[in-house]
Amino acid sequence: MSVSSATTSAATEPREARDVVLTVPEMDCAGCAQRIQDRLRTVEGVADAAGQPVSRRLKVQYDPGVVTVDRIREEVGRLGYAAREDQLGGEELGAPSIWRGPAAVRTWVSGAFMATALIARAVGDSAVLIELPVEDLRLAGLLFIAAAAVGGWNFFPKGIRSARALSLDMNFLMTIAILGAVGIGEYLEAGAIAFLFSLAELLERFSVDRVRRSIETLVDLSPEMATVLVGSEEVRRYVDDVVPGDEVVVRPGERIPVDGVVERGGSGVNQAPVTGESMPVDKVVGDEVFAGTVNGEGHLRVRVTRGATDTTLARMIHLVEEAEGRRTKSERFVERFARWYTPVVTVAAVFVAFGPPLMFGSDFGEWFVRGLTLLVIACPCALVISTPVAVVSGITAAARNGVLIKGGLHLESMGDIRVVAFDKTGTLTRGHPEVVEVVPAPDSDADRAAILGWAARLEARSEHPLARAIVRANGEEMGSGGEIVPGSEDREASATTVAAAADASDANDFESLRGMGVRGRIGGEVWQIGRPELFADTGGLDTDIDRLREDGRTVVLVGPKRSPVGLLALSDQPRPGAADAVARLRKAGVEHVVMLTGDDARTAASVGRGVGIDEIRAGLMPEEKVRAVEELERRYGPVAMVGDGVNDGPALAAASVGIAMGAAGSDTALETADIALLGDDLAKLAYLYTLSRRGRGVIRQNITAAIVLKGGLAIGVPLGWVSLIVAVIVGDMGASLAVTGNSLRLARVRP
Ligand code: ADP
Ligand code: MG
Repeated sequence: MSVSSATTSAATEPREARDVVLTVPEMDCAGCAQRIQDRLRTVEGVADAAGQPVSRRLKVQYDPGVVTVDRIREEVGRLGYAAREDQLGGEELGAPSIWRGPAAVRTWVSGAFMATALIARAVGDSAVLIELPVEDLRLAGLLFIAAAAVGGWNFFPKGIRSARALSLDMNFLMTIAILGAVGIGEYLEAGAIAFLFSLAELLERFSVDRVRRSIETLVDLSPEMATVLVGSEEVRRYVDDVVPGDEVVVRPGERIPVDGVVERGGSGVNQAPVTGESMPVDKVVGDEVFAGTVNGEGHLRVRVTRGATDTTLARMIHLVEEAEGRRTKSERFVERFARWYTPVVTVAAVFVAFGPPLMFGSDFGEWFVRGLTLLVIACPCALVISTPVAVVSGITAAARNGVLIKGGLHLESMGDIRVVAFDKTGTLTRGHPEVVEVVPAPDSDADRAAILGWAARLEARSEHPLARAIVRANGEEMGSGGEIVPGSEDREASATTVAAAADASDANDFESLRGMGVRGRIGGEVWQIGRPELFADTGGLDTDIDRLREDGRTVVLVGPKRSPVGLLALSDQPRPGAADAVARLRKAGVEHVVMLTGDDARTAASVGRGVGIDEIRAGLMPEEKVRAVEELERRYGPVAMVGDGVNDGPALAAASVGIAMGAAGSDTALETADIALLGDDLAKLAYLYTLSRRGRGVIRQNITAAIVLKGGLAIGVPLGWVSLIVAVIVGDMGASLAVTGNSLRLARVRP
């Protein structure tokens, strides 16, 4: 169940919802996470709660008018867990203590008692120490009980607390199982459950920790200190104390500590830690650099643009941590299943323990042990942990390759994709168009420079890549000193005066026609620039338009609405590797590759040909792109839309999975997309797809394996095929280790 969903909150619909993230250091098993969250959802004022066993965080959505954070923590405390509002430090989460902590010591001591007891029994045991109605106590028995007591101490306190809170959990089940076994004189079984289950817990903690630590490798990428320029002095500071506007010095080979803009110097920067691109990127004055990337051989001075908690890397880490909290479809299935599974098996356990002896007079001791065995199998841990470990493992693997997946949900959906739809400009093409030709209309007396000048004036306020290209081309034209020929005398437009006017451009008259062009006022008349459809006629430019489009140029007309004075042809190179990326996607299993564009069909076809696109939909307005996505979805199945995330937001949102490219440094792209490629490398798409398919596979294998294993064991118990020890080793420890081990495979998928 997702944090935003409201299935359980109807009765406690919050007037005002607030989120708090609590750290629960001991919530390291999936069963506990689920129990805590289920419990909290019953508290008045709590709209939703989501336990994340891998990061040991508990996200609670509550109404501050009804319930306080302290009250929430108290409720968690009742179940036997301490909840804190601050984040855990690295050492506390780290592994070393797992094998040496109190739980571990109890486990080892319990194991030692078990070993001695087994030896004592093997050599012939002692005389009876105490006579008991069930089973006389000898030395070995006493040692088994000691093993049970010490190992069992890992479960008793929490078990008793959970009994008091009237909620069935693993600790409670184990407490009953251990005490029950001692009660009927099955001392060996009692010791074995206590020891093996303690060991299983340690192993589960250890393996989940390995998954968690993969997130920490991301955190380790953020440098702690930065060298800040204060006046002419260099001062070492914690990055947390560096603020936007500061100037930071980065020496050759150093990790860049902040997000910022290069002020001085130049260098090849290895951006692999953030974007996953292995080739160094040349950075010169004015270029953006990212925290966590590694400076090459140059000396850089960087003007800080974002605080330490705001950097692309910090957001990336934050989103990866959050991702565990966004439940996948499989997780919701497992949660529902577990909620039903545990009680059913527990009831079966009671029935198995008492039914046959009471009804048929079967041997009580034997059936009681079978009941206990079922109790062990009733623990849903391996099942509940099966999806989160796969999700966290997959998402962190992706993050290390510059692919940010914002939730397990999207990892799963991406694995189901049938169609990949690309936006053209800036996605399949570089997005840096250049003006390659300017053609005056035959019946116009305007010349090249004048047309470019008017165009630039109209585009001065537009953010569109075409607009920027036109403004740039005009600037270069004037800078070159060559072609500054004034236009026709009756219009006020020499290129120079136009450019000057553009700066002071009349803001009121500017109108952006999304997906079409731009409208503005020149010399008292309404002019426009953009798609030929904007104009009443093409001013006799048809043959030029056709010729240029055939060559893959984007053609825009400029002039008064009734008739254009000329055209500009712009050329945008296909991204290098676009064809390769499409081929790889196909090889990985994508059935249909589509290009969606607002540009003309022939222009699009010329780009698409080289890239290997199956279908081109051209001349689309932004809302038509949304409809195209929906239509593709109906026809072929789930669609992934790939865009720049800035001006194709609606289409990204409409697709099953919205993927933004080049998201590093762009907040909008990071926010709008479900998945963000931090770099510009289209080849990452095939990696993403393969990883997602693999991830989806691992999730399914994990769930199936856990259910089949538990189910099989549960059926085998009453038949006497499964001993208690087998149930613990295979059904719990084995299953948990198998699902985590299987999940770690995802880290091995290579781009
Ligand atoms: P794409 O789908 O390739 O990303 P857009 O939807 O952004 O393209 O734009 C579609 C078409 O509209 C462009 O090919 C161009 O003809 C025209 N257009 C959009 N904005 C502008 C602008 N600022 N200046 C000129 N033409 C524009
Ligand atoms: Mg676009």
